[in-house]
Amino acid sequence: MFKHKWRVAKVFGITINIDPSWLVIFLLFTWSLAGYYFPQNYPGWTKALAWGMGFLTSLLVFFSVLVHELTHSLVARKQGDEVSDITLFLLGGVAQIREEPDKPLKEFGMAIVGPLSSFVLAGIFFGLSVLLAQASQPLSASALYLAIINTGLGIFNLLPGFPMDGGRVLRSIVWKISGDLKKATRVASLIGQAIAFLLLAAGFIQILRGQFGGLWLILIGLFLQSAAVRGYEQTVVRSMLQGVKAKDLMSTEFATVPAGLTLQALVDDFVLHRKERVFIVMDQESGLQGIVCLEDVKSTPKQNWPWARVRDVMTPKDKLAAVTPDTDGSQILSSLASRDVNQVPVMDGDHLEGIICRNDLLRYIQLKTELKL
Ligand SMILES: [Zn+2]
Repeated sequence: MFKHKWRVAKVFGITINIDPSWLVIFLLFTWSLAGYYFPQNYPGWTKALAWGMGFLTSLLVFFSVLVHELTHSLVARKQGDEVSDITLFLLGGVAQIREEPDKPLKEFGMAIVGPLSSFVLAGIFFGLSVLLAQASQPLSASALYLAIINTGLGIFNLLPGFPMDGGRVLRSIVWKISGDLKKATRVASLIGQAIAFLLLAAGFIQILRGQFGGLWLILIGLFLQSAAVRGYEQTVVRSMLQGVKAKDLMSTEFATVPAGLTLQALVDDFVLHRKERVFIVMDQESGLQGIVCLEDVKSTPKQNWPWARVRDVMTPKDKLAAVTPDTDGSQILSSLASRDVNQVPVMDGDHLEGIICRNDLLRYIQLKTELKL
């Protein structure tokens, strides 16, 4: 959600990040446990005890979500997909997996383990709460709450709407039967949107009744709605780029500019005057510095153009991952998205053949749509 995220740990070689929005939820969780849940169910506790247990329990909720995401990631890796990192944010976690699964069975396995891991955790926490019942009421109470939360997480994630795990399971089944990923995604996405709508409606009804818990449902509903739509769009775009090679998408004409050039000069002299959109950034002494596309310029506010330099907005060479002229278009799209960059150089051995910018992909899709291909 935010550009900035905190890197907190590395588990099994996978980087764990925390999005700042997650901190808000963490505090809300602690507060609702310490202020409401524990005092209502265990009136004998002191305030300090309720807050202490609220904090500890929230940490363990965080741990539970992490385990859920880790199992997705580990299964993806086992199946040969590269997993770079996991980011925990507002409503859960996202495992950054480089590519969408290419086979229904792969997606099925990757999706189903998430809810399964939540159910296993629920079982473990329930066992702990029984075991600890005599020894310590607070620990037992915390474990019981975690058993409930993990059961809820497992059930919620099994709802058959994309992009939830259950939606992915459904998509993999429809995909397997029909052999059509686009159609399968459409079905799962429509059900996802219906579920989002129901959550929104339930949330509004709760709020009208004066129950502010409804806000959670609205938040989750809004998130699911946009994710379901986006998921389908991505699949459509991906399927349009499938089978197209890098050499058919790349620009082969690009100018060379120095890293110290201002954006204003770049726009005036190169973009407007010479109609160029892609630039190799070179320095006399140190050679290739990076690549700049029109997108990088556009994302800088206009009032900064007179003093912002090309080197401030370019994608530096160490972030550029080259592809070959035969790399598939859908793979290039994933690579741009997962690296969060706008351009990728096309190399044939040591030779630079061309550059592909995000815009080149968009223009290709536009053309295909216009020609109804
Ligand atoms: Zn999941």
